[in-house]
Amino acid sequence: MKTFLAKLLARIRGAGNGHHHAPAGGAMPPMLDCDSVVRQLWDYLDGELTADRKAAIRTHLELCKRCHPQYEFEQSFLDAIAASGPAHSNPDRLRARLLSALEVEGLS
Ligand SMILES: [Zn+2]
Repeated sequence: MKTFLAKLLARIRGAGNGHHHAPAGGAMPPMLDCDSVVRQLWDYLDGELTADRKAAIRTHLELCKRCHPQYEFEQSFLDAIAASGPAHSNPDRLRARLLSALEVEGLS
C-alpha cells in the first residue's frame, strides 16, 4: 500500500499549497482492471475524472468485491481530511491519526 500512503501524505503535506493534477488521460484502455481502478480512486473521489471514466469506475466498484472496500476506505480518509478543517492546521496530528488508521486496517 505504499502508493496509497505516499499519495495520502503528499496530499496532507501539500494541502493549501497548490493542487495535484489528474494524470493525463487519453491513453487508457477502455476496460478497467482492478489495478487501474485503485490507481484512479483518488481522482475519482476528487471528481477529477471525465464523466465516462467516472462511470466506468463506478460500475467496476459496484461489481468488484475486491475494489469496493478500498473505495470505501479511501472515501473515509477523504471524509476525515475534510473534517479536519480547510486549513489542515495540524498536519502532523492528522498524519498520525491516518497512519494509525492504516495500521488498524493492515495497510501500512
Ligand atoms: Zn476490482
